[in-house]
This record gives sequence, C-alpha cells and structure tokens, in this order.
Amino acid sequence: MAYRTLNPYSEQMTREFPEHDDFQVEMALVRADTLFQSTWSKGERAPRLAVLARLSDLITTNCDLLASTMAEEMGKPLFQGQMEADLCAGIARYYADNADEILKPQPVTSDVGEGWVEYHPVGVLLAVEPWNFPIYQLIRVVAPAIAVGNPVIYKHASIVPQCAALFEDLVRQAGAPEGAVTNLYISSTKVAELIGDDRIQGVALTGSEGAGSKVGARAGEMLKKSTLELGGSDVFVVLNDADLAKAVQGGIFARLGNAGQICTGAKRFIVERGIAEAFTQAFVGAMQGAVMGDPMDPQTLLGPLASREGLEGLSGQVEEAVAHGATVLTGGKRADRSGFFYEPTVLTDLTPENPAFYQEFFGPVALLFVVDDDEAIVALANDSNFGLGGTIYAGDITRARALASRIETGMVFINTPTTSRPELPFGGIKRSGYGRELGDVGIKEFVNRKLVVVSNT
Ligand code: NAP
Repeated sequence: MAYRTLNPYSEQMTREFPEHDDFQVEMALVRADTLFQSTWSKGERAPRLAVLARLSDLITTNCDLLASTMAEEMGKPLFQGQMEADLCAGIARYYADNADEILKPQPVTSDVGEGWVEYHPVGVLLAVEPWNFPIYQLIRVVAPAIAVGNPVIYKHASIVPQCAALFEDLVRQAGAPEGAVTNLYISSTKVAELIGDDRIQGVALTGSEGAGSKVGARAGEMLKKSTLELGGSDVFVVLNDADLAKAVQGGIFARLGNAGQICTGAKRFIVERGIAEAFTQAFVGAMQGAVMGDPMDPQTLLGPLASREGLEGLSGQVEEAVAHGATVLTGGKRADRSGFFYEPTVLTDLTPENPAFYQEFFGPVALLFVVDDDEAIVALANDSNFGLGGTIYAGDITRARALASRIETGMVFINTPTTSRPELPFGGIKRSGYGRELGDVGIKEFVNRKLVVVSNT
C-alpha cells in the first residue's frame, strides 16, 4: 500500500510519501546494527534513560501537534489524541524512572553456587504497527527498547506516515543517536525480507490476525522471537447491582472512543437480566446522543472511521449480521453526511449461528446480550476466538473478582473501562496474540536473560 495522508473527515488526500528504497533500507540496518555494537547499547543505561526523560518532555510540549496530526490522518478527536499523547509521555517517563530497578540482576538460589540473571539487549528489533493509536503503538515498543539498548526499525501503517515521521523526529530531538529508532516506509514484502536478515533479532507486531499470522510465521521460520498484539472482542459485563450511570458512561466511552477502533474496546455487552431493560434504554439513548463531528472540534466524541475501507468493511459486517437475524436497536448504517462516519449502533438477538457472533467489530457497533447468571456470563464471555481484555461493572466486588478470574483473557478491569497505563502489562491470549507490552513484563520480552553462576566448590 502507498503511504499517504487521506483525511477521513474531508475525504481529501493531502500528502503522499514514496517508499524507502533498498539502499535506504540497507543503510537503516547498518546504522542500527552499528549502534547495537557500540557503547550506546552495551554501555551504561543512564544516557539512554536521559533520552527517554527528554522524550517524555518533548511529547508533552508537542501534545497539540501530535493530536492534530492524528486527527488529520486517522480522524481521532482532538481531546482523545491529547489523552494518547499524555499516556505516551507517561510511558517514556515510566521507563526512564523504573528501568534500572526492573532490569537489575535477579538472584537465583541454587545448590551449584551463587547465581543471578542479568538483562542484556538482544539486537535490532523490527516493529510493525497499526494506525489506531499512531504514537502509543510506537512508544510501547520504542521506550522499553531504548531503556534496554535494542535499536528499533519500525514500519508504521501506510495511512499514518506523518505520525510515523513526527515520532522519529521527536526521538532524535530527545538526543537518541542515529540508528536508535528508524522509521521506514516499506511494504509487507520488505517486512518479510527484513525478518530474514541476521541483524534483526526480534519482531513486535500489533495489528490484525492476518498480518500477525504472516509475520509470526515468518519470524518462526527464521527462528526469531516475536510478540503479537492482535484483535479482540472484549466483553463489557453489567451485573444487576452495578452503578447504572457509571456503567452507561463507561460503556459509551469504551465503545465510541477512537470511533470504536480500539483492540480492547467494549464489543460484546453482556447484561444481567435484572438491569437489562434500564441499561439498554440508557445505553441506546446515550449512543444516539453522542456528538459526532469534526475531529478537530473539542466537542466531538465520535469522529469518522480512519479509512473508507474500514467504513465499508464495518457496513458489510452489520448488513451480514442483520441478514442472519440480528435486530438493530439503533444505527445500523453509514451516517448521512460526508466523511467516513458510521452511526453509533446497537445490535441484539445474536446467536452463535450468526457470523457476527465471533467477529471483531472495529467501529462504533455494540453487540448486546442479556443473561441470567454467572455461568451464562462466563460461558458467553469465553465463547470467543479472542482473549484480549474485558470489563465488569458490579456492586459486589467479591462476585466481580470471582468472575474476572474465570474470564479467559489477558486483562480484566472492574468498574472502569479497559485501559492502558505504563505500569500495566498489556496483551492477550488465543487469537489476540502472545507476549506483553508495557510494565515490568513488557520490557523483558526482548532481552537476553543471561544466567551467571559462580560455583561454590
Ligand atoms: P493490519 O492491517 O494488520 O495492519 C497493521 C500493520 O501491519 C500495518 O503497519 C500494516 O501495514 C502491516 N501489515 C499488514 N499486513 C502485513 C503483512 N502481511 N506483513 C507485514 N506487515 C503487514 O491491522 P489494521 O486492520 O490496520 O488494525 C486493526 C487491527 O489491529 C484490529 O484487529 C485491532 O484489534 C488490532 N489492534 C490490536 C492491538 C493490541 O494491542 N492487541 C492494538 C491496536 C490494534 P499497511 O498499513 O501498509 O497495510
């Protein structure tokens, strides 16, 4: 796909970027690998953490520019882009402040002698990232990599080339040397070639199951470590004793934030029968009342979808769901206006025979189910090919905790929509992928956990 900025609100293409050629790709590899052999990667950690601290400040200073570039390229409402930039500044700061502690050698008790595990960089990483959180997806890989000493080459989604370049520029401004972080405009074919290159030692991909399967397979073939952060169809459970207003407000943000294009967005609403009528009425009303409009307008909650392809795909999914018996409680079609807008939609009466039952809806479409007890909640929640996140709204926290333990996903949040913070490990199971990003777990995905033992004999 060609790299270009096509504003999803105006539907106008504003900029195009040529792909990097073979020579430029080779130069990127040479610079990254040369840096890996240098004291930048193999020496003291302090200079790298100082870069992260400055990067955090620079992201904060450039918050509005980052947010407006996201709005222009993929339609994220301005205040949501500012929230994303804040989170990114926090991630850089978190690793600047905590990497020394997280990466300090861990003692191992053994009858052989005194042992410990040290954490060393492994080499150049390749990151393949999606457009939905254009800066956050990058920093989830780049910040821990800088802390560890792994150079990163990234291929960003072809619809966010300016975000891709802006981030690289900020990292350089923060003082990272040439080769530490490199943005390449390249094709999927080139990604496969790069994974085969000896200088690449690991691959992190966030994206669809299709891309994950291809990249994961190629990494396996070349015996390279990979992490995959893929799709999800997260549940949003509302129990009878939940705070109704909080659940509705949380549900709206969890389904309409980023126009519903969040891997951990609430996609399947599972509501207990005693609260079902009240919740459905309030939730459908709030969906209908969501302010849709120009992402650059601070009042906008719901912007356009990021691309025409996304809009067409979602429209087709809803049509297919209805053709197989789903009932539309509100929405159900493209909004009657220019831009790639889709109406906030609630579907119900979905059976496992309906293809929609097992699909991820990457847009403002909620699937609503009414159930009678915990067994039904767990059965429905776990009847999914995905296993990313999930949310439970409840008054009785003991019951919610027990349910959380039984839901087969990588993350569950109680009484708050699924969210991301620098210190919280993020990732899933099943077809949502493998590995974790962020927190102390994420930074240890691409390290050499080197064991050293001094014999006691
Ligand atoms: P996508 O098509 O898989 O694109 C993601 C990235 O992979 C892009 O850079 C894309 O490049 C690249 N790509 C696509 N096919 C590839 C291939 N065969 N080889 C190498 N690279 C390839 O994903 P999307 O549909 O844009 O993004 C939405 C998906 O990502 C959803 O399923 C969502 O749930 C998931 N997601 C998951 C997380 C998480 O943390 N678990 C977070 C965000 C999104 P091009 O743009 O050039 O095609």
